[in-house]
Amino acid sequence: MLKQFTLGLCSVALIALTISPAQTHEAPIALVIHGGAGTLEKSQMTPARRKSYEAVLTQSLQAGHGILKKGGSSLDAVEASIHILEDSPLFNAGKGAVFTHDGTHELDASIMNGQNLAAGAVAGVKHIQNPISLARAVMEKSPHVLMAGSGAEAFASFLGMPKVEQSYFFTQEKWDLLQEVKREAEQAKPFGTVGAVALDRAGNLAAGTSTGGMTNKRFGRVGDSPIIGAGTYANNKACGVSATGHGEYFIRTAVAHDIFARMAYGNKSLKQAADEVIMGVLKPMGGEGGIIAIDKQGQIETSFNGDGMYRGWVDSKGQLMVKIYRE
Ligand code: ASP
Repeated sequence: MLKQFTLGLCSVALIALTISPAQTHEAPIALVIHGGAGTLEKSQMTPARRKSYEAVLTQSLQAGHGILKKGGSSLDAVEASIHILEDSPLFNAGKGAVFTHDGTHELDASIMNGQNLAAGAVAGVKHIQNPISLARAVMEKSPHVLMAGSGAEAFASFLGMPKVEQSYFFTQEKWDLLQEVKREAEQAKPFGTVGAVALDRAGNLAAGTSTGGMTNKRFGRVGDSPIIGAGTYANNKACGVSATGHGEYFIRTAVAHDIFARMAYGNKSLKQAADEVIMGVLKPMGGEGGIIAIDKQGQIETSFNGDGMYRGWVDSKGQLMVKIYRE
Protein backbone atom coordinates (compact mmCIF):
# COMPACT_ATOMS: atom_id res chain seq x y z
CA MET A 1 0.00 0.00 0.00
CA LEU A 2 2.73 2.39 1.07
CA LYS A 3 4.87 1.33 -1.89
CA GLN A 4 2.02 1.96 -4.28
CA PHE A 5 1.47 5.42 -2.79
CA THR A 6 5.16 6.33 -3.18
CA LEU A 7 5.15 5.09 -6.76
CA GLY A 8 2.10 7.20 -7.42
CA LEU A 9 3.85 10.31 -6.10
CA CYS A 10 6.90 9.52 -8.20
CA SER A 11 4.92 9.32 -11.38
CA VAL A 12 3.19 12.61 -10.59
CA ALA A 13 6.61 14.22 -10.10
CA LEU A 14 7.83 12.75 -13.38
CA ILE A 15 4.86 14.06 -15.30
CA ALA A 16 5.38 17.50 -13.75
CA LEU A 17 9.02 17.45 -14.83
CA THR A 18 8.22 16.53 -18.40
CA ILE A 19 5.51 19.18 -18.71
CA SER A 20 7.30 22.10 -17.14
CA PRO A 21 10.37 22.37 -19.44
CA ALA A 22 8.12 22.80 -22.45
CA GLN A 23 6.25 25.54 -20.62
CA THR A 24 9.27 27.43 -19.34
CA HIS A 25 11.05 27.24 -22.69
CA GLU A 26 8.12 28.64 -24.60
CA ALA A 27 9.42 31.67 -26.47
CA PRO A 28 8.28 34.98 -24.95
CA ILE A 29 5.53 37.10 -26.43
CA ALA A 30 5.01 40.77 -25.61
CA LEU A 31 2.89 43.69 -26.72
CA VAL A 32 3.06 47.44 -26.05
CA ILE A 33 0.76 50.18 -27.35
CA HIS A 34 0.49 53.95 -27.17
CA GLY A 35 -2.34 56.41 -27.66
CA GLY A 36 -0.09 59.40 -28.05
CA ALA A 37 2.01 61.82 -26.09
CA GLY A 38 0.52 65.22 -25.23
CA THR A 39 -2.04 63.82 -22.84
CA LEU A 40 -4.82 65.90 -21.32
CA GLU A 41 -3.63 68.06 -18.45
CA LYS A 42 -4.04 66.17 -15.19
CA SER A 43 -6.53 68.76 -13.93
CA GLN A 44 -8.82 68.02 -16.91
CA MET A 45 -8.63 64.25 -16.50
CA THR A 46 -11.83 63.36 -14.66
CA PRO A 47 -12.19 59.82 -13.26
CA ALA A 48 -14.79 59.09 -15.96
CA ARG A 49 -12.47 60.25 -18.76
CA ARG A 50 -9.59 58.25 -17.34
CA LYS A 51 -11.83 55.19 -17.22
CA SER A 52 -12.78 55.50 -20.88
CA TYR A 53 -9.13 55.87 -21.98
CA GLU A 54 -8.12 52.90 -19.86
CA ALA A 55 -10.98 50.80 -21.22
CA VAL A 56 -10.01 51.34 -24.87
CA LEU A 57 -6.29 50.81 -24.18
CA THR A 58 -7.16 47.55 -22.39
CA GLN A 59 -9.40 46.41 -25.24
CA SER A 60 -6.61 47.13 -27.71
CA LEU A 61 -4.11 45.14 -25.63
CA GLN A 62 -6.52 42.22 -25.34
CA ALA A 63 -7.10 42.15 -29.09
CA GLY A 64 -3.39 42.06 -29.92
CA HIS A 65 -2.36 39.78 -27.10
CA GLY A 66 -5.14 37.30 -27.92
CA ILE A 67 -3.54 36.85 -31.33
CA LEU A 68 -0.01 36.44 -29.93
CA LYS A 69 -1.20 33.91 -27.31
CA LYS A 70 -2.66 31.69 -30.02
CA GLY A 71 0.67 31.73 -31.85
CA GLY A 72 -0.39 34.47 -34.29
CA SER A 73 2.06 36.86 -35.90
CA SER A 74 3.32 40.13 -34.46
CA LEU A 75 2.07 41.89 -37.62
CA ASP A 76 -1.48 40.63 -37.03
CA ALA A 77 -1.27 41.67 -33.37
CA VAL A 78 -0.03 45.18 -34.22
CA GLU A 79 -2.75 45.65 -36.84
CA ALA A 80 -5.51 44.37 -34.52
CA SER A 81 -4.40 46.54 -31.59
CA ILE A 82 -4.18 49.63 -33.80
CA HIS A 83 -7.64 48.96 -35.30
CA ILE A 84 -9.23 49.28 -31.86
CA LEU A 85 -7.45 52.60 -31.29
CA GLU A 86 -8.25 53.88 -34.80
CA ASP A 87 -11.93 53.04 -34.29
CA SER A 88 -12.12 54.95 -31.00
CA PRO A 89 -12.95 58.68 -31.13
CA LEU A 90 -10.65 59.25 -28.14
CA PHE A 91 -7.42 59.11 -30.13
CA ASN A 92 -5.97 61.03 -33.04
CA ALA A 93 -6.09 58.24 -35.61
CA GLY A 94 -8.92 56.92 -37.78
CA LYS A 95 -12.21 58.07 -36.18
CA GLY A 96 -11.26 61.11 -34.09
CA ALA A 97 -8.34 62.22 -36.27
CA VAL A 98 -7.47 65.90 -35.80
CA PHE A 99 -8.40 68.63 -38.32
CA THR A 100 -6.09 70.30 -40.80
CA HIS A 101 -6.07 74.10 -41.12
CA ASP A 102 -8.70 73.75 -43.86
CA GLY A 103 -11.03 71.71 -41.66
CA THR A 104 -10.32 68.39 -43.38
CA HIS A 105 -8.69 65.15 -42.19
CA GLU A 106 -5.45 63.74 -43.67
CA LEU A 107 -4.26 60.49 -42.16
CA ASP A 108 -0.82 58.87 -42.06
CA ALA A 109 0.22 55.35 -41.04
CA SER A 110 3.06 52.86 -41.33
CA ILE A 111 3.91 49.29 -40.41
CA MET A 112 7.14 47.29 -40.45
CA ASN A 113 8.03 43.62 -40.25
CA GLY A 114 11.22 43.07 -38.21
CA GLN A 115 11.82 39.64 -39.72
CA ASN A 116 12.59 40.77 -43.28
CA LEU A 117 12.52 44.59 -42.98
CA ALA A 118 9.47 44.78 -45.21
CA ALA A 119 7.57 48.02 -44.63
CA GLY A 120 4.50 49.87 -45.87
CA ALA A 121 3.13 53.35 -45.30
CA VAL A 122 0.49 55.82 -46.44
CA ALA A 123 0.44 59.60 -46.09
CA GLY A 124 -2.35 62.15 -46.43
CA VAL A 125 -5.23 59.73 -47.06
CA LYS A 126 -8.71 61.17 -46.61
CA HIS A 127 -11.20 58.34 -46.96
CA ILE A 128 -9.58 55.28 -45.39
CA GLN A 129 -11.25 54.02 -42.22
CA ASN A 130 -8.22 52.06 -41.00
CA PRO A 131 -5.04 53.52 -42.52
CA ILE A 132 -2.88 50.89 -40.77
CA SER A 133 -4.48 48.21 -42.96
CA LEU A 134 -3.77 50.19 -46.13
CA ALA A 135 -0.16 50.61 -44.96
CA ARG A 136 0.02 46.85 -44.52
CA ALA A 137 -1.42 46.35 -48.01
CA VAL A 138 1.26 48.65 -49.44
CA MET A 139 3.84 46.40 -47.76
CA GLU A 140 2.32 43.08 -48.78
CA LYS A 141 0.54 43.77 -52.06
CA SER A 142 2.76 46.31 -53.83
CA PRO A 143 6.47 46.71 -54.59
CA HIS A 144 6.46 50.13 -52.86
CA VAL A 145 6.96 51.33 -49.31
CA LEU A 146 5.16 54.71 -49.16
CA MET A 147 2.08 55.85 -51.08
CA ALA A 148 0.59 59.32 -50.68
CA GLY A 149 -2.75 61.08 -51.15
CA SER A 150 -4.95 60.25 -54.12
CA GLY A 151 -2.53 57.56 -55.35
CA ALA A 152 -2.81 55.69 -52.06
CA GLU A 153 -6.60 56.02 -52.25
CA ALA A 154 -6.62 54.67 -55.81
CA PHE A 155 -4.60 51.69 -54.57
CA ALA A 156 -7.23 51.12 -51.85
CA SER A 157 -9.98 51.18 -54.52
CA PHE A 158 -7.96 48.78 -56.67
CA LEU A 159 -7.87 46.38 -53.70
CA GLY A 160 -11.60 46.84 -53.08
CA MET A 161 -11.11 48.46 -49.67
CA PRO A 162 -14.18 50.36 -48.46
CA LYS A 163 -14.00 54.18 -48.34
CA VAL A 164 -15.59 56.50 -45.81
CA GLU A 165 -16.74 60.11 -46.09
CA GLN A 166 -14.63 62.76 -44.35
CA SER A 167 -17.54 63.26 -41.94
CA TYR A 168 -16.81 59.79 -40.53
CA PHE A 169 -13.70 61.23 -38.82
CA PHE A 170 -15.54 64.18 -37.21
CA THR A 171 -15.51 64.62 -33.44
CA GLN A 172 -16.64 67.80 -31.68
CA GLU A 173 -13.61 67.70 -29.38
CA LYS A 174 -11.12 67.82 -32.27
CA TRP A 175 -13.15 70.53 -34.02
CA ASP A 176 -13.04 72.66 -30.86
CA LEU A 177 -9.31 71.98 -30.62
CA LEU A 178 -8.79 73.35 -34.14
CA GLN A 179 -10.66 76.56 -33.25
CA GLU A 180 -8.58 76.92 -30.10
CA VAL A 181 -5.29 76.34 -31.90
CA LYS A 182 -6.24 78.79 -34.65
CA ARG A 183 -6.99 81.42 -32.01
CA GLU A 184 -3.86 80.86 -29.99
CA ALA A 185 -1.00 79.50 -32.03
CA GLU A 186 0.23 78.39 -35.42
CA GLN A 187 0.49 74.68 -34.63
CA ALA A 188 -0.92 72.46 -31.90
CA LYS A 189 0.90 70.14 -29.61
CA PRO A 190 1.03 66.53 -30.77
CA PHE A 191 -2.02 64.74 -29.49
CA GLY A 192 -3.25 61.16 -29.47
CA THR A 193 -1.41 59.37 -32.28
CA VAL A 194 -1.57 55.59 -31.80
CA GLY A 195 0.96 52.80 -32.19
CA ALA A 196 1.79 49.21 -31.30
CA VAL A 197 4.85 46.98 -31.13
CA ALA A 198 4.71 43.20 -30.73
CA LEU A 199 6.98 40.18 -30.37
CA ASP A 200 5.49 36.85 -31.42
CA ARG A 201 6.37 33.26 -30.46
CA ALA A 202 8.45 32.88 -33.61
CA GLY A 203 10.70 35.70 -32.36
CA ASN A 204 9.48 38.22 -34.93
CA LEU A 205 9.07 41.86 -34.02
CA ALA A 206 6.63 44.22 -35.74
CA ALA A 207 5.76 47.87 -35.21
CA GLY A 208 3.04 50.18 -36.51
CA THR A 209 1.87 53.77 -36.08
CA SER A 210 -1.29 55.62 -37.20
CA THR A 211 -2.25 59.28 -36.89
CA GLY A 212 -4.26 62.25 -38.05
CA GLY A 213 -1.05 64.29 -37.69
CA MET A 214 -0.94 67.71 -36.04
CA THR A 215 -4.00 69.92 -35.58
CA ASN A 216 -3.98 72.91 -37.96
CA LYS A 217 -1.39 71.35 -40.31
CA ARG A 218 -1.20 72.95 -43.78
CA PHE A 219 -0.03 72.43 -47.35
CA GLY A 220 0.06 68.62 -47.29
CA ARG A 221 2.27 68.47 -44.21
CA VAL A 222 3.36 64.91 -43.38
CA GLY A 223 4.78 63.99 -39.99
CA ASP A 224 7.00 61.18 -38.76
CA SER A 225 4.29 58.52 -38.36
CA PRO A 226 4.44 57.22 -41.96
CA ILE A 227 8.21 57.64 -42.21
CA ILE A 228 10.05 54.35 -41.70
CA GLY A 229 12.98 55.01 -39.37
CA ALA A 230 11.38 58.11 -37.85
CA GLY A 231 7.96 57.13 -36.46
CA THR A 232 8.19 53.37 -36.95
CA TYR A 233 10.98 50.81 -37.14
CA ALA A 234 11.34 47.07 -36.51
CA ASN A 235 14.32 44.80 -36.95
CA ASN A 236 14.57 41.37 -35.29
CA LYS A 237 18.28 42.06 -34.70
CA ALA A 238 17.43 44.50 -31.89
CA CYS A 239 13.98 46.01 -31.39
CA GLY A 240 10.69 47.38 -32.67
CA VAL A 241 9.74 51.02 -32.04
CA SER A 242 6.65 53.23 -32.52
CA ALA A 243 6.87 56.95 -31.79
CA THR A 244 4.56 59.82 -30.97
CA GLY A 245 5.34 63.48 -30.65
CA HIS A 246 6.19 66.58 -32.64
CA GLY A 247 6.87 64.83 -35.93
CA GLU A 248 9.24 67.37 -37.47
CA TYR A 249 11.78 66.65 -34.71
CA PHE A 250 11.28 62.89 -34.99
CA ILE A 251 12.00 63.00 -38.72
CA ARG A 252 15.11 65.15 -38.33
CA THR A 253 16.55 62.83 -35.69
CA ALA A 254 15.33 59.55 -37.24
CA VAL A 255 14.18 58.56 -33.76
CA ALA A 256 13.01 54.97 -34.27
CA HIS A 257 16.06 53.97 -36.31
CA ASP A 258 18.43 55.81 -33.98
CA ILE A 259 17.17 53.70 -31.05
CA PHE A 260 17.67 50.56 -33.13
CA ALA A 261 21.17 51.66 -34.21
CA ARG A 262 22.34 52.45 -30.67
CA MET A 263 21.40 48.89 -29.71
CA ALA A 264 22.67 47.13 -32.84
CA TYR A 265 25.97 48.98 -33.28
CA GLY A 266 26.54 50.52 -29.85
CA ASN A 267 25.56 47.56 -27.66
CA LYS A 268 23.18 49.70 -25.66
CA SER A 269 20.24 48.17 -23.81
CA LEU A 270 16.77 49.15 -25.06
CA LYS A 271 16.26 51.38 -22.04
CA GLN A 272 19.60 53.16 -22.50
CA ALA A 273 19.04 53.63 -26.23
CA ALA A 274 15.47 54.93 -25.79
CA ASP A 275 16.34 57.32 -22.96
CA GLU A 276 19.40 58.66 -24.79
CA VAL A 277 17.31 59.53 -27.83
CA ILE A 278 14.17 60.84 -26.08
CA MET A 279 15.92 62.70 -23.25
CA GLY A 280 19.38 63.34 -24.69
CA VAL A 281 18.69 64.13 -28.35
CA LEU A 282 15.06 65.21 -28.70
CA LYS A 283 14.54 67.13 -25.50
CA PRO A 284 17.44 69.58 -25.91
CA MET A 285 16.16 70.37 -29.43
CA GLY A 286 12.68 71.08 -28.05
CA GLY A 287 11.14 67.93 -29.53
CA GLU A 288 8.34 66.76 -27.29
CA GLY A 289 7.10 63.18 -27.35
CA GLY A 290 7.98 59.59 -26.66
CA ILE A 291 8.26 56.03 -27.88
CA ILE A 292 7.17 52.51 -27.07
CA ALA A 293 9.49 49.61 -27.88
CA ILE A 294 10.22 45.91 -27.38
CA ASP A 295 13.60 44.23 -27.73
CA LYS A 296 14.20 40.78 -29.16
CA GLN A 297 14.07 39.21 -25.67
CA GLY A 298 10.62 40.66 -25.05
CA GLN A 299 11.75 43.49 -22.77
CA ILE A 300 9.28 46.38 -22.98
CA GLU A 301 10.24 50.05 -22.78
CA THR A 302 8.25 53.27 -22.79
CA SER A 303 10.07 56.60 -22.70
CA PHE A 304 8.68 60.14 -23.03
CA ASN A 305 9.86 63.63 -22.18
CA GLY A 306 6.51 65.36 -21.51
CA ASP A 307 3.96 65.00 -18.74
CA GLY A 308 2.34 61.85 -20.01
CA MET A 309 1.72 59.34 -22.77
CA TYR A 310 -1.32 57.08 -23.09
CA ARG A 311 0.24 53.63 -23.01
CA GLY A 312 -0.16 50.02 -22.00
CA TRP A 313 1.48 46.66 -22.35
CA VAL A 314 1.25 42.94 -21.72
CA ASP A 315 4.69 41.69 -20.72
CA SER A 316 6.24 38.28 -21.28
CA LYS A 317 4.72 37.05 -17.99
CA GLY A 318 1.26 38.00 -19.21
CA GLN A 319 0.92 41.03 -16.89
CA LEU A 320 -1.30 43.75 -18.34
CA MET A 321 -0.66 47.38 -17.41
CA VAL A 322 -2.22 50.66 -18.56
CA LYS A 323 -0.78 54.10 -17.70
CA ILE A 324 -1.26 57.75 -18.63
CA TYR A 325 1.04 60.00 -16.57
CA ARG A 326 4.36 59.40 -14.80
CA GLU A 327 2.95 57.11 -12.14
N1 ASP B 1 3.86 62.34 -34.56
C1 ASP B 1 2.62 62.82 -35.08
C2 ASP B 1 2.89 63.81 -36.19
O1 ASP B 1 3.79 64.63 -36.05
C3 ASP B 1 1.77 63.50 -34.05
C4 ASP B 1 1.58 62.74 -32.76
O2 ASP B 1 2.37 61.90 -32.40
O3 ASP B 1 0.57 63.01 -32.07
O4 ASP B 1 2.19 63.82 -37.15
